[in-house]
Amino acid sequence: MTACEQKTANLHSIETFGSVDGPGVRFVVFLQGCGMRCRFCHNPDTWSTKTNQTITADALLEKALRYRRYWGKSGGITVSGGEPLLQMDFLLSFFAMAKAQGVHTVIDTAGAPFSRDPAFLDKFRQLMEYTDLVLLDIKEIDPDKHKRLTGQDNANILDLARYLSDTGKPVWIRHVLVPSYSDFDEDLIHLGAFIKTLQNVQRVEVLPYHTMGIFKWNKLGIPYPLEGIDPPTPDRVENASRLLCTQDYLQI
Ligand code: SF4
Repeated sequence: MTACEQKTANLHSIETFGSVDGPGVRFVVFLQGCGMRCRFCHNPDTWSTKTNQTITADALLEKALRYRRYWGKSGGITVSGGEPLLQMDFLLSFFAMAKAQGVHTVIDTAGAPFSRDPAFLDKFRQLMEYTDLVLLDIKEIDPDKHKRLTGQDNANILDLARYLSDTGKPVWIRHVLVPSYSDFDEDLIHLGAFIKTLQNVQRVEVLPYHTMGIFKWNKLGIPYPLEGIDPPTPDRVENASRLLCTQDYLQI
């Protein structure tokens, strides 16, 4: 495939004025489909790869560019999900077109599809040529606790972090803080030390777990697995911020 070949996305939704998924004001595209099963997920309606909404790369870009005047110098387009790396051919096409228009591009990923297998890596390498920034979730550094929280191993996710560091791609690391699942001092210290080994980290964010997505689980008829778990206290959020040394990165 060439980067300019037209591709169609399985779309979940669009947010026209996003302010939390990358720098500045952003047009945020949520793609459909995710293989992880994070217990705290506030978008379980993105899990299925089936969708009623599809859109071509050029139609989506045309829609996004209508908002360009609001992006200023730092804003642009973010593709999130679901898991955007499950639709790599579309992303390649979409970001190649966006970069040709000088748009700042961000991918918000949990990293689970990452692999050094050439079938994946060749396309991913091309995609990174059109990507300015990666927002990478590291949900737990301990592999067993990661599996308990998300249903998946984290070895390839940590490997993605290393790959992005080795190739010099700017990254924001994000950690969702879930009491009893991803809020352990020893793991936060370990994660902080791991992040320190990376050369490309521009920002580290602690995202406190919240319960705003519960209604979606109820609507889908899936039992909510974190019933009884409250959001972390401000003290625990501050503790995680300190152990992950978030202030060190904000100064960059
Ligand atoms: S990776 Fe994101 S979309 Fe997928 S289950 Fe986890 S929180 Fe939900």
